[in-house]
Amino acid sequence: MGDTRHTKVLIIGSGPAGYTAGVYASRAMLNPILVQGIEPGGQLTTTTEVENWPGDTEVQGPDLMVRMEAHAKAMGCEIIGDIISDLDLSQRPFTAKGDSGTTYTADAVILATGARAKWLGLPSEEKFKGFGVSACATCDGFFYRGQEIVVIGGGNTAVEEALFLTNFASKVTLIHRRDELRAEKILQDRLFKNPKIETLWFHQLDEVVGTDNPLGVEAVRVKHVQTGEITEIPCKGVFVAIGHAPANELVQDQLEMHMGGYVKVKPGTSATSVPGVFAAGDITDPVYRQAITSAGMGCMAALDAERFLAEQEDTAELAAE
Ligand code: FAD
Ligand code: NAP
Repeated sequence: MGDTRHTKVLIIGSGPAGYTAGVYASRAMLNPILVQGIEPGGQLTTTTEVENWPGDTEVQGPDLMVRMEAHAKAMGCEIIGDIISDLDLSQRPFTAKGDSGTTYTADAVILATGARAKWLGLPSEEKFKGFGVSACATCDGFFYRGQEIVVIGGGNTAVEEALFLTNFASKVTLIHRRDELRAEKILQDRLFKNPKIETLWFHQLDEVVGTDNPLGVEAVRVKHVQTGEITEIPCKGVFVAIGHAPANELVQDQLEMHMGGYVKVKPGTSATSVPGVFAAGDITDPVYRQAITSAGMGCMAALDAERFLAEQEDTAELAAE
């Protein structure tokens, strides 16, 4: 039998949203516990230069996350290396079970479990990830100034990424497995009007081709889905934009969701469909998905949790009178 730990605020996730919530909840004297999960520091630990974190012209993603962790800790946040495997939101206090055997009970929960870009699963995609293959145009587009780029996918993300990448690239080829886009019509109009963008229908990425020393992309081989014919397209960057999967496993049947599995929050707040449960960062954000927006939502979640707990205390005091 493991121990049981009670906290006023349990923060699940250690990306920018989780750590920022940790800073604010600690400064509100809520003595939060933050459980880091399988990826301490979150998605930014998987990248190199981050050039859009205000205050740092350039910072290495893993370094930034080490600093955020230290900041949360210095403010008094208890940071635990554990993975939540089960979360019960049906009654308060909420109960979370950790892989370590510890059970956490909490008066409020901040869910900051992030989202994951979906990948095609090709060995060559894996080989060049971070060296020409990316899933984030906002993050990496700047590195491809004046170069040719391909984007894979046909949804809003792919079309938005293709449009955004025309700010840097000399040419963008959007490669889609059908001849119809899933993206909203307004985005499609912008795409088709853009002289820098070419679309290649009925094609799937077959292989990313490049050099080993230095590691870098030179072209993609794409396959026609009907004829099987292979074509090689020269390019320096490959942006895979086939969707994101919010990490919602813990709350799938417990919280209201929308837009393909993102946790729904009351507009302008971090409040979910269960009072006392707040969501922040990529788990609730199908649109921006940035470190700074996640951190901002982490702040909101901590402030919302603080207000919620204060209201609970007021109600309890009134009932006792
Ligand atoms: P995440 O960073 O996704 O963190 C989620 C956290 O939840 C992790 O710590 C994980 O361990 C934890 N977790 C998940 N499940 C559990 C569980 N069951 N129990 C406990 N913990 C759990 N954004 C920028 O602004 N600038 C950039 O330059 C930039 N570059 C990027 C480069 C790459 C390669 C990628 C993938 C993303 C990049 N982003 C960038 C996007 C940015 O990383 C995300 O928007 C941001 O990290 C989201 O923060 P988050 O806190 O919501 O979640
Ligand atoms: P999405 O809508 O699921 O689209 C994914 C695209 O990738 C589809 O075109 C799909 O092809 C293609 N795809 C999936 N798996 C593939 C594979 N293995 N090989 C090749 N192609 C593959 O994902 P998304 O574009 O990331 O959008 C996710 C959600 O966020 C949506 O609800 C979207 O509206 C929302 N979103 C909104 C905004 C905005 O409002 N501005 C911006 C971005 C995202 P098929 O079409 O053939 O299935």
